[in-house]
Amino acid sequence: MNFHVMTLFPEMIEQGLSASIIGRARDKGFISFEATNIRDYSGDLRHHKVDDYTYGGGAGMLMQAQPIYDCYRHIADTIPDERRKCLRVIYVTPQGSVFDQNMAKEFSKEEDLIFLCGHYEGVDERVLEEIVTDYVSIGDYVLTGGELPAMVMIDAIARLVPGVLNNEESANTESFSNYLLEYPQYSRPEEWMGKKVPSILLSGDHKKVDDWRLEQSIERTKMRRPDLYEKWLIENPPKPPKKKRKRHIDRDDSQNSQ
Ligand code: SAM
Repeated sequence: MNFHVMTLFPEMIEQGLSASIIGRARDKGFISFEATNIRDYSGDLRHHKVDDYTYGGGAGMLMQAQPIYDCYRHIADTIPDERRKCLRVIYVTPQGSVFDQNMAKEFSKEEDLIFLCGHYEGVDERVLEEIVTDYVSIGDYVLTGGELPAMVMIDAIARLVPGVLNNEESANTESFSNYLLEYPQYSRPEEWMGKKVPSILLSGDHKKVDDWRLEQSIERTKMRRPDLYEKWLIENPPKPPKKKRKRHIDRDDSQNSQ
């Protein structure tokens, strides 16, 4: 999977994504990422300016349409025709749908994703209308620029690409995979600061461990994220209690016994 990032600060993306699992995944060729500097497409050859005042007044500067469009065209031209036709271009913006694990899953099926990182007061609306397919936010707060949101999304998406995580199992059982938060986990030593690892985890009984973990996940989700718990309940409604089978009492018998 290939991530293309349009940014004014390519070094942030390079440094932020080169470490740890994502960096190793790139080195091994499971993913690629490339940050392209929008400033390189400025029509202002002297100062490489990419922002200007907003029409109608108001505080702050706005990123201009043309450098972003030219940067986008350059990236799109490097992508083969059949993949370019269905290319998704994500503008990271506090005005977008809020990013979640389901979106990460959906995006991880794409071969290419282009991210546009805004700055200042944002981006001229006309270029957004021209190139953007998805408006995505990382939460209801405003950051100074789109690089951190793009990195957050790339990290979450990349770790779902086959091969990126050593143990695929962990992506299936961890938080949000089925609306439930992950159960508590423990490592060595068996006792730390007087706190013992729950004995069931040392029992070697996999069925009991799985049952305990599910129970803990449900409890934790109910306490910490009641909104997710409600969604989980809809997909996993409580089973009706088994009806007790009535003992059939023969009328004659009951009369006899009186
Ligand atoms: N004036 C814009 C508004 O009210 O929607 C906010 C501009 S913000 C200061 C600059 C850039 O940071 C945005 O263009 C966007 O790319 C990025 N950004 C800020 N907060 C974000 C968030 N919560 N999620 C995604 N991107 C965000």
